Amino acid sequence: MFPRILTPPPGPKAKLILERDARVLSPSYARDYPFVMARGQGAEVWDVDGNRYIDFAAGIAVTSTGHSHPEIVRAIQAQAEKFIHISSDFYHELMVRLAERIDEIAPMQEDVTVFLANSGTESVEAALKLARYATGRRQFIGFLGAFHGRSMGSLSFTASKARQQERFFPTMPGVWHVPFPDPYRPVFPIPPGGDIGDAVVNYIEEMLFPEALPPDEVAAVLVEPIQGEGGYIVPPPHFFPRLRDMCDRHGILLILDEVQAGVGRTGKWWGIQHWNVEPDIICIAKGIASGVPLGAMAARRSIGAKWKPGAHGNTYGGNPLACVAALKTLELIEREYMQNAATQGAFMFDALAEMQARHECIGEVRGRGLMIGIELVKDRATKTAAKELRDAVVHRCFENGLLTLGCGRSTLRFMPALMIEKELVEAGLAIFENALSEEEGRV
Ligand SMILES: *Cc1c(COP(=O)(O)O)cnc(C)c1O
Repeated sequence: MFPRILTPPPGPKAKLILERDARVLSPSYARDYPFVMARGQGAEVWDVDGNRYIDFAAGIAVTSTGHSHPEIVRAIQAQAEKFIHISSDFYHELMVRLAERIDEIAPMQEDVTVFLANSGTESVEAALKLARYATGRRQFIGFLGAFHGRSMGSLSFTASKARQQERFFPTMPGVWHVPFPDPYRPVFPIPPGGDIGDAVVNYIEEMLFPEALPPDEVAAVLVEPIQGEGGYIVPPPHFFPRLRDMCDRHGILLILDEVQAGVGRTGKWWGIQHWNVEPDIICIAKGIASGVPLGAMAARRSIGAKWKPGAHGNTYGGNPLACVAALKTLELIEREYMQNAATQGAFMFDALAEMQARHECIGEVRGRGLMIGIELVKDRATKTAAKELRDAVVHRCFENGLLTLGCGRSTLRFMPALMIEKELVEAGLAIFENALSEEEGRV
């Protein structure tokens, strides 16, 4: 294998930029390691000192078609010469076409109405406001370990790291957190014939309802199909069918936050499609426009059509550069990359499962498609989280030419571009296993 790292990072050019960054940029940005980007192509990136890395992070699951895919670049360039902005006070066809496309692929049988925004948190805010508006109810149910964004509404649900909440209370009142069904670390006893998904829904129905929380005051349940920042946790088979049934019986809306798992990442358009359950509202962002900021909220028409003009809006929603990038991204994913995500994801999963047999510290490998988490533990029997080891492995991967990120307490996540080829998956996994071998005895 050719050497990827010529100058141990951060190299001299990177160091100068890090110093300037520290003077003028908000210290709130959490950087795990000092990667200073110069350019990217496909599933590889280069830093300013000429080092080359395999990218298993994809800008947090955003660059779904790879970095600067030539067709995306051409689409943005061509649109930039026509017009870059007009605002959602006016009409343009690209907005309509994007909404039509989202309607075609949305995981609901009923037609949807689409609200366009610029980020994940804004798509969640739109969903929360619509849920209150459409139901006339005020309260919500969310999940421990969830991540839905950092604006005051979405932040009231976010529960994946203390730092995200510290000193910001009060956020939006009326959010009840319940445990997310984690098959690896179940917090409730599992009922006979059931799974931890049944136990969680039973908890809501028997412990929260009706004494603590009247179900007819609950507007919606907000949930990720696979918990992302919380540790790439895949719920067991009964969870979503039971949750859907509970929502139906109480007139509660089911909002799926597909910001990280959606748009082909798991080998299907939407994460929820692994459970054959239909949501009422979905929140979309991250992978939809290959890195151009775009969020979207799609609601069943009978719900979304309740909004009156002016009830919600924004300046940039439906930005034409973002729309063309999204339309081209969806075309490429449909044509080729969703299948590739399923194929490469299965290959990666199997390779990691084999690696688990060689490394005692791998407690669990989980995920769907190219959304794979590797949980590191101190001891397989006690499942004690190995956070220091995880952090050390993430760093060592970086030093050896692989970008990854952590999530949860002691999980690494692999979420490369959906176009990644097998050779790069293999090369990235080799760097990972070397890093693991070097650090597992040390940390
Ligand atoms: C990243 C993320 C968000 C927030 O998206 P931003 O674009 O950072 O606001 C919301 N929900 C999930 C599941 C996410 O992974």
